[in-house]
Amino acid sequence: MSTSSTPDTTHTASAAFRGALDVIGAVEPRIAEAIGAELRDQRESLKLIASENYASPATLLAMGNWLSDKYAEGTIGHRFYAGCQNVDTVESIAAEHARELFGARHAYAQPHSGIDANLVAFWSVLAQRVESPALERAGARQANDLTEADWEELRHDLGNQRMLGMSLDAGGHLTHGFRPNISGKMFHQRSYGTDPATGLLDYDAVRAAAREFRPLILIAGYSAYPRLINFRVMREIADEVGATLMVDMAHFAGLVAGKVLTGDFDPVPNAQIVTTTTHKSLRGPRGGMVLCDDSLAQQVDRGCPMVLGGPLPHVMAAKAVALAEARQPAFRDYAQHVVDNSRALAEGLLTRGARLVTGGTDNHIVLLDVSGYGLTGRQAEAALLESGIVTNRNSIPRDPNGAWYTSGIRLGTPALTTRGLGTADMDEVAALIDGVLSQTTPGTTKSGKPSKASHVLADGVAKRTAERAGELLAQHPLYPGIDLG
Ligand code: PLP
Repeated sequence: MSTSSTPDTTHTASAAFRGALDVIGAVEPRIAEAIGAELRDQRESLKLIASENYASPATLLAMGNWLSDKYAEGTIGHRFYAGCQNVDTVESIAAEHARELFGARHAYAQPHSGIDANLVAFWSVLAQRVESPALERAGARQANDLTEADWEELRHDLGNQRMLGMSLDAGGHLTHGFRPNISGKMFHQRSYGTDPATGLLDYDAVRAAAREFRPLILIAGYSAYPRLINFRVMREIADEVGATLMVDMAHFAGLVAGKVLTGDFDPVPNAQIVTTTTHKSLRGPRGGMVLCDDSLAQQVDRGCPMVLGGPLPHVMAAKAVALAEARQPAFRDYAQHVVDNSRALAEGLLTRGARLVTGGTDNHIVLLDVSGYGLTGRQAEAALLESGIVTNRNSIPRDPNGAWYTSGIRLGTPALTTRGLGTADMDEVAALIDGVLSQTTPGTTKSGKPSKASHVLADGVAKRTAERAGELLAQHPLYPGIDLG
């Protein structure tokens, strides 16, 4: 996992992790043990969770230090606490790497997670589009200058805006206006789906929905859509109806960073505001970020204390390290390999007769419709896990089994690609998945009916598959040279 232009520090990293576990173990041995066990588990499982990855030792180590002790509410050079000079340095470097890497006008590295990044974005747009005009109308300089009556009206207006986003079963995310998330309580929401025949995003339908619904925010981005989105077209639609285009690139930020997604498919030059996580295909620490154009920069920088708690300086340090890694040429190769592997996995499944949503993939995600095997997503997920293959169940468009049982399995290649698995390995992974699913049948409920939850796996399949997966993984060790003793 070291990159060609950085010195090999594996031996030192190994000693650092060992030392850290000794120190932690002296206080609470069970925590040291759990950390060690997590490394063992990750080394031994074939991880196809599309939203996970393996951060570099440098990124992981950047988080375990005294930066964690510092309070630094506010933003760079404008903090509500004294003594933030080192946090300023860290946050500035993270933001600089993000701007350079993504070609963004402005970057905000504080969000603690993707959900938080989206909240910052929503409130920044609301502040720009709803609060600022209200202040102007009232001749006020800041919100505190408004009368109670003005406030009453402003609160009503802030809470009654419209958002148009991708439907959950087409691959959208909960934070894009769905009820279980605050976005679905704050905004009136409408969704656009995918074409029933092709499974592809239908831009004419998005345009028609936007014309009718006239959202304040048009949101593009997904958790489970295996194709690319043309953000130039989405921006045209947003402009036509006076909406702000927000792209949530949490899933595919690594493909943008690695220049696999460029031009119309790069959200940064096309959207007014872009949010991301840093821990999925981007391969950084758990966290979020916001990128935006100049018009929203001031509002975004008020994310803390607007909706965020105090920044996590140690995580921003790790974001800076991961972004520095993503700026190296090796990351471009990585991003391309992620997509090559995803295509090879899709091909391997298709040649074995599997059904894929949209018939294939253009990104890091493959969405397998397991109804072809006579299973629910929940049964398939459990059978694969029993066989050493970690995936997650996922709805497919117009899913008859709903969001709990589902009819799909989402597969993703960022993690296995970081381990060094290649396209030939993906064919083998496809064979293992197909082998498990074609030898799994639904279990029965207590009353003798077919169950949506339990499954029966033919004798010996789980053991044989796990052994073969173990052999494959042994050829591509995770964190080679890191030895916890
Ligand atoms: N946005 C998208 C598109 C996601 O897929 C996710 C996570 O799954 C998030 C936001 C939320 O990220 P986090 O879990 O860091 O809050």
